[in-house]
Amino acid sequence: MHLWYKTLKKIIPSMIGQVVKSLFEKPNTRRYPMVAVSIPEDFRGKQVLDPERCISCGLCARDCPSGAIKMTEFGTKMLPVFLLDRCVFCYQCAESCPRNAITTSKVFEMASTKKEELVVTPQKKNE
Ligand code: SF4
Ligand code: SF4
Repeated sequence: MHLWYKTLKKIIPSMIGQVVKSLFEKPNTRRYPMVAVSIPEDFRGKQVLDPERCISCGLCARDCPSGAIKMTEFGTKMLPVFLLDRCVFCYQCAESCPRNAITTSKVFEMASTKKEELVVTPQKKNE
């Protein structure tokens, strides 16, 4: 008898056993986006800037390791604008901010093929 035949005879029953077993096991993956995922409280998602707290010091832009913050004029103030296509979500910007004007959010669905949609402009947290 050929060696390959002997090998197949040995492994096929165990493979069938694995297949049958997997039919009755819980899936190891989540059916996202059909099923919502739970997001941890300290998740580093899309940035939220409170323009009223910001004093336009520019420390966030200075310390951002990715050059992802552009200080931009909004009325009478210079405020940070976050460029998500460069951001690595390290949150050094929030660490550097002396006014706690930058906070995290649980927003993680940011993928886009349009560059203009990857820009976070100042807004109030509850907007
Ligand atoms: S999270 Fe990090 S990379 Fe993104 S803007 Fe802030 S400092 Fe820059
Ligand atoms: S570090 Fe804080 S206060 Fe300074 S510009 Fe950035 S957000 Fe505004």
